[in-house]
Amino acid sequence: MMKQRPTGDLQYVQRMNRRLILETLLNQGPMSKIDISRTTTLSPTTVGNAITELQSENLVQEVGKVASPLGRRPTLLDIQWNSRSAIGLAVVDNKVVGVRTNVAASIQKASIHEFSVDRDITKIFQMVIEELLSGVDATTVIGIGLATPGVLDRQLGEIETIANFPWRHLKFPGSILKDRAIPSFIENDTNAAALGEAYFGRGRQMNSFCYVHVGTGVGAGVIVDRHIMLGSRGYAGEIGHMTVDRHGTKCRCGNSGCLEAYVSWRAIAEFLKDEVVHPRYKDLENVIDRGGFLKAVYESGRKNEVFANVADMLSTGIAALISMVDPEMVIVEGIYEKCDHFMKQVEEQTHFRLTNIVHDKPKIVTGELGEFASVAGIIAMILERNGFLRSQESLLASPYDFQVAQIQEYAVAMQ
Ligand SMILES: [Zn+2]
Repeated sequence: MMKQRPTGDLQYVQRMNRRLILETLLNQGPMSKIDISRTTTLSPTTVGNAITELQSENLVQEVGKVASPLGRRPTLLDIQWNSRSAIGLAVVDNKVVGVRTNVAASIQKASIHEFSVDRDITKIFQMVIEELLSGVDATTVIGIGLATPGVLDRQLGEIETIANFPWRHLKFPGSILKDRAIPSFIENDTNAAALGEAYFGRGRQMNSFCYVHVGTGVGAGVIVDRHIMLGSRGYAGEIGHMTVDRHGTKCRCGNSGCLEAYVSWRAIAEFLKDEVVHPRYKDLENVIDRGGFLKAVYESGRKNEVFANVADMLSTGIAALISMVDPEMVIVEGIYEKCDHFMKQVEEQTHFRLTNIVHDKPKIVTGELGEFASVAGIIAMILERNGFLRSQESLLASPYDFQVAQIQEYAVAMQ
């Protein structure tokens, strides 16, 4: 139910005005006060008061004068991009990736730590957060978020279970923020990755697209009109357990013929278990290194058979997803993203399965952010929650400066 607000609530009006002014500067700045007033249709006095307040909080700064040959040259104002920062973490295979950015999503620091099943992952979260908080005033951090696979309780900020790992009921961020009032949250990794691609990657120009991730499991993030589709319980896009063969292979969820039972690396490892050379890939619990996994598939001598099966099942799942969502494009990421020939196969078979009523069938492509899409998505969510996420129009004119190569560079430099 919509919350009714009294129309005379002065503070509420001031908050809305302030948000509108910030939004205008975010997407069209730097600007003078008079231009802000014209663009927002707020009175010069209202703009002046709000700007004074924003300047006192270091959120807005003067950045020069308007170039004008005649008369007074008004002062230009812009967001003070470095005055606040956002901290994103993501569980990616067997790593925790952490990034700190300013409110223009420029990376200030990054950290990557590998973990193993016998370590307490909350200790790794704490280590990464401590590293990213060092050198920054914690009161200027506007949010900390975590993207992770698993069954999540968003309200409690709790990871109930993560497939393949023994941990249960993990609290994020645990006790590390005890004396620091930084808002925190968790989000499903595939949803976050979809949003990451929407703002910093391949999806910038799209209004609606699907992001399919294939790894230990299979999931999809669905972006409709630039928003993540969550569903009534937050499980929208859980295509891993969509039935693709009613009488098919038994899945670990107890059903038969789930998509995941054919295309996840657990499924492939099971399929190849008698002949994969590397002993590490015989132990399914430890199959979490994607480069090594593909190498093992290639070395098995049955790669054509594996890829043909996977393309067949994956395209069945993707075609069903397309029929429901009608996206402009489908991004496929995860273990097969480097296999060009395979991706072509998946696209052809998906198109073959789609009804001929649709002429321009959605392309199936890889993302631009690779394994860093989910951490990027967390940054986008923090910016969005705090009114710092730029509009699509302004992004198309000048994209965010979120460079994934920098994450690796910072992480290496820290070691
Ligand atoms: Zn299943």
